[in-house]
Amino acid sequence: MSYFVPLLIMQLRDLYKKAQEFEFLTAEEGVYMFEKAPLTELMHIANELRKKQVPHGKVTWQIDRNVNTTNVCTANCKFCNFYRIPGHAEAYITDIEEYKRKIAETVKYGGDQLLLQGGHHPELGLSFYVNLFKQLKQLFPDVRLHALGPPKWHTLPNWKKVRI
Ligand code: SF4
Repeated sequence: MSYFVPLLIMQLRDLYKKAQEFEFLTAEEGVYMFEKAPLTELMHIANELRKKQVPHGKVTWQIDRNVNTTNVCTANCKFCNFYRIPGHAEAYITDIEEYKRKIAETVKYGGDQLLLQGGHHPELGLSFYVNLFKQLKQLFPDVRLHALGPPKWHTLPNWKKVRI
């Protein structure tokens, strides 16, 4: 029997029910929904979950700030006008003073999260980010760090050896 046969017979309504009961989906179930579920149905389920989690009905938002870690990148995305190749005269790595200034400003306006994005700098490994995050959390313990998305993680040297 093919590995994927159970997925083919899986009913979306079972997955919707699972989601509505706040059960985690498996990776296979997530892929199945991604490929098969109509967007309008997913929007409906998401709204139902929101209503359960936020029963007062108020819609809120989070104030955060996007700070770039570096503009050095080797991904070479065709649409990107932000990145600079390693060694370019305009290449930079954001220093701690700049983070301090921008985070303090964010906090002043009620922000509590930092979205750290940047290029895939070939010389910045995991230890660079760990040190950076430690420094930022020591300086601003109440500010959440939203960082290291999958593309960035994937380009870190030796990322496959890191246990999460
Ligand atoms: S990965 Fe990001 S920074 Fe790098 S080239 Fe692509 S869009 Fe630009």
